[in-house]
Amino acid sequence: MDDIVIVGGGAGGLELAVKLGRFFKKSDTNVLLVDKNRTHIWKPLLHEVAAGSLDADIDCLDYLALSQKNGFQFQLGEVVGLDRSAQTLSLAAMLDEEGNTVLPARTIAYSKLVFALGSVTNDFGTPGAKEHCIFLDSAGSAQRFHTQLLNEFLKLQSDSNKDKLDIAIVGAGATGVELAAELYKTAELLKAYGYQNVSSARLNVSVIEAGPRLLPALPERIAQKVAHELRELGVSLMLNTAVSEASDKGLYTKQGDFIPADMSVWAAGIKAPEFMKQLDGLETNRINQLVVDRTLKTVTDNNIYAIGDCAHCIMPDETKVPPRAQSAHQMASCLFDNIKREQKGQELKQYQYVDYGSLVSLSSYSTIGSLMGSLTRGSVFIEGKLARIVYISLYRMHQMVVYGKLKTLFFMLVNRINRRLRPTLKLH
Ligand SMILES: Cc1cc2nc3c(=O)[nH]c(=O)nc-3n(C[C@H](O)[C@H](O)[C@H](O)COP(=O)(O)OP(=O)(O)OC[C@H]3O[C@@H](n4cnc5c(N)ncnc54)[C@H](O)[C@@H]3O)c2cc1C
Repeated sequence: MDDIVIVGGGAGGLELAVKLGRFFKKSDTNVLLVDKNRTHIWKPLLHEVAAGSLDADIDCLDYLALSQKNGFQFQLGEVVGLDRSAQTLSLAAMLDEEGNTVLPARTIAYSKLVFALGSVTNDFGTPGAKEHCIFLDSAGSAQRFHTQLLNEFLKLQSDSNKDKLDIAIVGAGATGVELAAELYKTAELLKAYGYQNVSSARLNVSVIEAGPRLLPALPERIAQKVAHELRELGVSLMLNTAVSEASDKGLYTKQGDFIPADMSVWAAGIKAPEFMKQLDGLETNRINQLVVDRTLKTVTDNNIYAIGDCAHCIMPDETKVPPRAQSAHQMASCLFDNIKREQKGQELKQYQYVDYGSLVSLSSYSTIGSLMGSLTRGSVFIEGKLARIVYISLYRMHQMVVYGKLKTLFFMLVNRINRRLRPTLKLH
């Protein structure tokens, strides 16, 4: 009997678990998904959770319920180690909020293992960053940011001595710029909900970027347009500015300046989780990602695969597959085929990353991006409503893999109804 264990139920791992679970439902192959959380929220939505435009409690998916419907099993637990010769994974003991043991440390046996653990924020060892900046890399941190944001706006509303709310965002990648725009929307909505002293004019968001321009991974034209939109909103863009230290009062730059901040967010880089650096001899790169070949198998162990942000995969043109939701989605599809092929003794497929373009959503103000494809013959610039539809369709594709088409349609309907019934902003 085969035991396929997938660790990490995110953009890539959950899609793979659902596909494999359905495929092997009536066979003697077990598919087990392990995640440290009980629920899944699609990570590109985290800046919306942070700003309050999305309620994670409504949009999250329950792993246990999904596992029952799709023929896989689910175990709650945090993976902390691996024994390749025994073919077992170690899970940490699970504690409740008071520190009492709910489950002791355990091991799980596998015959095939897939790492899909995603990534965490990389602060590059900057002093004070871990203590004083919020890392927007999990649903928990996004929710903590949201609570702190509401508290800061409440102080602005109530404290006549407080002139402005200063928020500093380190990193002008998609996460940083999208969050900046969402924050202005939050300020506007709070005013509409009765916070008369709150307005976007009293919000001061700085986006600090070490490089010469924002959105370094996207075409120049998109970066320019986004920069223009953000400046119109009132965002201060501080380019060529490297942060050297963070404190509870703000950020110090390498140039010797100080940027005051009531809240600081670090969104400047990613790495695979720290424990992956030492995974029983599996080869990793300098940001802890597991080195895989193009079949998505680790180069060290024939029974272990990696997909998504925690995988280091190089394409024939020497480019590295970027840490993006579309990469995780494509890798999950490719690995699904390869696991089936392997069982049938067939040759494995070579993964090819296909870039379908990039879109940046600046809350309800604007959506800007480019589409790539054979029909467009290269990159086509899009913005406005069409761009917004394409942006949302990435999430809908993820929902369709997990729920199927009909249920996704129901969810879209429920979303529309909720927009009428519930506050536009999560107020708690
Ligand atoms: C705010 C934000 C906005 C983004 N916007 C976009 C976008 O617009 N477009 C885009 O393409 N990409 C975007 N991304 C990147 C995208 O979210 C990731 O590339 C994608 O989610 C990676 O998928 P994954 O399956 O590798 O990992 P993830 O989706 O991160 O899932 C990893 C899973 O592993 C679990 N896990 C982690 N450690 C452990 C452990 N030790 N034990 C057990 N379980 C564990 C986690 O709970 C999680 O469920 C964004 C990211 C962020 C943070």
